[in-house]
Amino acid sequence: MKTIGLIGGMSWESSLEYYRYMNEAVKQRLGGLHSARILMNSVDFAPIRELMVSGDWKTVGDRLADAARTLEQAGAELMVIGTNTMHKVAPRIEEAVSVPVVHIADATAEVARAGGFSRLALLGTAFTMEEDFYLGRLREHGFKVLVPDADDRKLVDRVIFDEMCKGLFLDDSRAEFVRIIEGLAAQGAEAVVLGCTEIGMLVRPGDTDVPTLDTCRIHAERVVDIALG
Ligand code: GLU
Repeated sequence: MKTIGLIGGMSWESSLEYYRYMNEAVKQRLGGLHSARILMNSVDFAPIRELMVSGDWKTVGDRLADAARTLEQAGAELMVIGTNTMHKVAPRIEEAVSVPVVHIADATAEVARAGGFSRLALLGTAFTMEEDFYLGRLREHGFKVLVPDADDRKLVDRVIFDEMCKGLFLDDSRAEFVRIIEGLAAQGAEAVVLGCTEIGMLVRPGDTDVPTLDTCRIHAERVVDIALG
């Protein structure tokens, strides 16, 4: 079993989910007392968020590249960036380490394809819903991708940073997310990519009939597949 390096803390709420999903996946594959070999470098999210807001992605990339280097030096053989949004600086992290970085959008695309979906809805931060590093990457995989309108993108982004990344999972916000998901399904989306690693804690299976692709879980399970070979 390869040692997984998790760049976490963005938010730590979702890092907990990564930890759980990776261990559950190992348990399912190997049984008994087996558990995942994981090193985590959990950053303080507040200064990173400030850099994001001020648009200083160069420094964000430098900080996360440092975190990845530390993990590699400690023995990580595979790298996981435990957030969708921070894949904006994935190329910088890939440059900084010699071990593979498992891309969350590629893992999600693979599961979406296996599910037979071709038209996807995407919810995530404004960066994720609007920029090529993520939306564009899903489209490169051949999917038609629908995103919420500008007002709803703002709402989703606000709930992510003002609520979920602070550990608040509120019924009113869940109802809004379900409304948005079902609106996109009515426009033709066959499944929704929960393209932010906290959304799977808000919108649970059963909250909507629209099939959901939980990127946190998908990413964690994909990396375990690779770690176990
Ligand atoms: N965890 C979120 C994501 O998957 C948002 C926090 C961040 O900006 O990294 O995009």
